[in-house]
Amino acid sequence: MFKSLKKLFTSGQNDKKSSKDEDRGIVSLEFYDELSATHIPKLKDYGISDLDILDTYEKLNGRERDVIWSLYNKLLNSIRHEKIYLLKEIYSDMISMLDEEEKNCNHLVEQLNKLTLKEFERAEIKRVKILSMRDGLCKAAEDLDGQEFSLNNTQKNCPISAGGCKKKHCTCTFIPIT
Ligand SMILES: [Zn+2]
Repeated sequence: MFKSLKKLFTSGQNDKKSSKDEDRGIVSLEFYDELSATHIPKLKDYGISDLDILDTYEKLNGRERDVIWSLYNKLLNSIRHEKIYLLKEIYSDMISMLDEEEKNCNHLVEQLNKLTLKEFERAEIKRVKILSMRDGLCKAAEDLDGQEFSLNNTQKNCPISAGGCKKKHCTCTFIPIT
């Protein structure tokens, strides 16, 4: 996908016409590669423009995976903190990207868990319970499985932090006590 974009971009520039997008040959983006086909439409739904994609492509010398990752991070930095639902969606997309690459994603899972706790706070939940997968791989959560904590303490010191998990993708979680 980026190769074809690059070509359009360059040929448009060589014409030395106007700098408007359409004159530079940027008409529509097409997706050939599975990674781009999955993630570029999502990035665009979140508000990333074709020009953002091209600029990042130029900056990163066309390393496609890095372009997508960089755009996700750009989004995380630009979205307001109170938009918890949106942030959670973006983190989930980033996590699924790392899952596909079989990389460790627990630093993002931790951020996602913190956002979930913030949602509980907004819903005036006062206590939470820890739910572990009981597969012997997540000692941090298994030692605390089924135990209840105050939401306040859990937010200050997240007890199922990524550090104590042997899985690449920790699936232990909090459930609200209503
Ligand atoms: Zn875990």
